[in-house]
Amino acid sequence: MHTFDSLLASITPTTGPTRDIYDPATGAVVGSAPVHTVDDLETAVVAAVDAQTAWAALGHAGRSEVMLRAADAIDAAAEPLAELLSREQGKPLNGPNARFEVGGASAWLRTAAATPLEPEVVVDDGETFASIHYRPIGVVGAIGPWNWPMMISIWQIAPALRMGNAVVVKPSEYTPLSVLALVAVMNQVLPAGLLTVVSGGRDVGAALSTHPAIGKVMFTGSTATGKAIIRSSADTVKRLTLELGGNDAGIVLPDADPQAIAEGLFWGAFINTGQTCAALKRLYVHDDIYEEVCTALTAFAAAVPMGIGLDENNVLGPLQNKAQFDIVADLVDKAKASGARVLLGGTPDADQPGYFYPTTLIADIDPLNPLVVEEQFGPALPIIRYTDLDEVIALANGVDVGLGGSVWSADVATAREVAARLETGTVWINSHGGVHPMIPFGGAKQSGYGLEFGVEGLKALGTPQVING
Ligand code: NAD
Repeated sequence: MHTFDSLLASITPTTGPTRDIYDPATGAVVGSAPVHTVDDLETAVVAAVDAQTAWAALGHAGRSEVMLRAADAIDAAAEPLAELLSREQGKPLNGPNARFEVGGASAWLRTAAATPLEPEVVVDDGETFASIHYRPIGVVGAIGPWNWPMMISIWQIAPALRMGNAVVVKPSEYTPLSVLALVAVMNQVLPAGLLTVVSGGRDVGAALSTHPAIGKVMFTGSTATGKAIIRSSADTVKRLTLELGGNDAGIVLPDADPQAIAEGLFWGAFINTGQTCAALKRLYVHDDIYEEVCTALTAFAAAVPMGIGLDENNVLGPLQNKAQFDIVADLVDKAKASGARVLLGGTPDADQPGYFYPTTLIADIDPLNPLVVEEQFGPALPIIRYTDLDEVIALANGVDVGLGGSVWSADVATAREVAARLETGTVWINSHGGVHPMIPFGGAKQSGYGLEFGVEGLKALGTPQVING
């Protein structure tokens, strides 16, 4: 049974170069991460190739059984894992944050282990018989971001293992400890070499996406890096699942009840302090109820505590890193300079340690202001007034990305009609950003391609083979 100290000790390197990792809430050193190189990547890939054959030979039932035991190991270490995640990423223990993320990692692993995937018969007409089977790809590379490091790693690892692949994980250089710890716990159960973390920088990520022995890359991160991976994986024709940046719009129709939707709007936008790919990043509210929605949302938001993650009272935390803090501060400054109305926040406390940016709501903002059309990825929500439905749909669709979107209305049928006109991978009605291990998730436009979760997600980690006859 792990304590926080024993978990940290289990991933602290005893040889080789290391790098200190700092708590974004306090600046204190959390721990020390290895600085792996392209040579370490090579070693990991050789071990993965070696381990994959026996793993594939276990079959679905055998692999599922081992994966369920790995999920049990995560559950047994849940509290120290959540503490490490909170210290490294900044997110609080409580609310939809660190404990929730560790629980989600276990739940997604269990669902991937338990979801049936039978061969599909595509033609059986007496003359022709053809079926599709999903074979292992071999070695899968998993490259992840810093916002939900454990959850997103599991989204990549779980279906890959289930489908008979070995995995080499390249975590974000901002949050390597969370992923190293999660994998160390899983490796109490998994066969040696099957799942390895290579904790290096962008050079290691780039080498992974050109490696000839890696058949597929699962990537979650920015659109710019996704494009770099498309280019660098071209020579080896890798399969790719790309979950990239978003700038999700929420549209509030005039029949919505401002009081009833305020809490859902808040968490849609501010989950993980806004550092979520499919967070609500632009809120369009009809003129008829604009002031009421602004008032209800401001009242709710003002009461939500932000602070150090290990304090059990807090449910919002700091930005994870200085670069992200600067992006948010710059976009809010531009919004203020344009004359937009600050309903809440907007001015960080210069004396507060850590990368805390206050919960910020900005009203009466121009629809083309940078805070609206660029991804802020932090706790600052622009609220745009609209009167015409066609115009607001054009604005919602007027960006290059299309991850998620939401429609808020008392009339679900009307909301579904609006949803059908949004150019996004998912549309939520009267909520925003919720994910489920059996509901496929993926982006439209430059938010990426490929689906994760459920049966579709498993298929994406197999090589389809048609047997004709
Ligand atoms: P990032 O693109 O900067 O980094 C992601 C990972 O890619 C890191 O591990 C990094 O080391 C690696 N990397 C960097 N350059 C590389 C290269 N040339 N080749 C291979 N790997 C390379 O993203 P980030 O700042 O960590 O994450 C924030 C972004 O991720 C936001 O845009 C957010 O919307 C997006 N995101 C999307 C989803 C989704 O499911 N669509 C989920 C979470 C985050």
